[in-house]
Amino acid sequence: MDQPNIEIMAKVKSYLELYSVNLRDAQYANILNSVNEYLENKCIHKVIIDSIDITPDSSQTIYYCEKCYKTFNNLKCNVTDKLL
Ligand SMILES: [Zn+2]
Repeated sequence: MDQPNIEIMAKVKSYLELYSVNLRDAQYANILNSVNEYLENKCIHKVIIDSIDITPDSSQTIYYCEKCYKTFNNLKCNVTDKLL
């Protein structure tokens, strides 16, 4: 892992998201937002192309960063994100 800080923040994010949205207070939401911003600003995305089954007969291609788990609608979007 070339960005251990991102790996840790991604874990923090997934852990924070375990707590019900309805129960989060403003400060809790701020912390989660800060973690999201950190990942957004610092992650040098490594996008993985994967396929998920929608039905037994059809599947959908998805793109996501293996470090921060951000998903991308398409590769064009990903390229833009990488440049930022
Ligand atoms: Zn990423």
